[in-house]
Amino acid sequence: MKLKSLEISGFKSFADKTIIEFMPGMTGIVGPNGSGKSNIIEAMRWVMGEQSAKDLRGTKMTDVIFGGTNMRGALNRAEVSMTFDNTDHYVNSDFSEIRITRKLYRSGDSSYQINGVESRLRDVHDLFIDTGLGRESFSIISQGRVESIFNAKPENRRAIIEEVAGVHKYKQNKDRAQKELTQTRDNLARVADIIHEIQ
Ligand code: ATP
Repeated sequence: MKLKSLEISGFKSFADKTIIEFMPGMTGIVGPNGSGKSNIIEAMRWVMGEQSAKDLRGTKMTDVIFGGTNMRGALNRAEVSMTFDNTDHYVNSDFSEIRITRKLYRSGDSSYQINGVESRLRDVHDLFIDTGLGRESFSIISQGRVESIFNAKPENRRAIIEEVAGVHKYKQNKDRAQKELTQTRDNLARVADIIHEIQ
């Protein structure tokens, strides 16, 4: 799996549509302080479903929308698309190219698309889980994260290792199944109460 391109529009300092094509080999992004290097990495994390505004250096999620400058008014929408080459089918999908898009409006309305099809956040997370690009993975290490990994509680460090080892997916499925089981047991208890009242 290879990262092919990133399209950013209305996200943080990227008011205008900006397309970054990643060529084979290593890519370095350089620029003066405050020019938007970290915003590019945050755009990647955001399109993959980042839910913490704080981890994107904001207080609420709409803070990621271009907020305006002295020269230019604020925008109403942030949109980021990231395209991967998946010819090796490293990501569990039939598609040989995967494009994910996330949009957010100032009203709070938001959406995800996978290859142009409206999708849920869960679909986006499921796509990347155990690929090394999951939420707790080491693939994106932001400033300050190295210290936080070293200082993490053992159980949090274990979560990182589980993601790398590829067992995180199964733990998540187990948690989901357990929640459904509890809900079903509650429903059964309610049905039993109703039957008892009727008899
Ligand atoms: P450094 O080298 O200092 O780490 P950097 O190149 O990584 O800097 P970023 O932190 O990515 O720079 O970008 C910071 C810039 O992004 C600031 O000028 C800030 O005003 C701008 N910015 C952040 N959020 C928004 C927003 N919502 N709207 C407009 N500009 C924003």
